[in-house]
Amino acid sequence: MAKKILIVDDNENNRLLLSDILQYRGYEILEAEDGEKGVSMAGELKPDLILLDMQMPGIDGFAAAKMLKSGPLTKDIKVIVVTSFAMKGDREKIIALGVDDYVAKPIDTRQFPVLVEKHIGPA
Ligand SMILES: [Mg+2]
Repeated sequence: MAKKILIVDDNENNRLLLSDILQYRGYEILEAEDGEKGVSMAGELKPDLILLDMQMPGIDGFAAAKMLKSGPLTKDIKVIVVTSFAMKGDREKIIALGVDDYVAKPIDTRQFPVLVEKHIGPA
């Protein structure tokens, strides 16, 4: 069975890009368009990895990361934040959430699958 990756991003084009890159590598992709849905899908479907956008309406990535990393069903799921935040101090603020890694948008489409594999191995 292929490893599952949950993409949580309110922007459909971002989800499509990540999904294309990772499906090509054989991963199974799940998608959520907001933080609330992402957190509930994570608890239900137990993905191997969550790719989390920060800027989303409603439950944003910061709140979602806190919920994921403190929830008994989700705390051990790897989380990589994928965000366009690039201000000084953002990286520190994001890593302080307890997430496993941080990637700035626009992503490097060649390096991104390497990073994913570093965290969860091949599909
Ligand atoms: Mg967004």
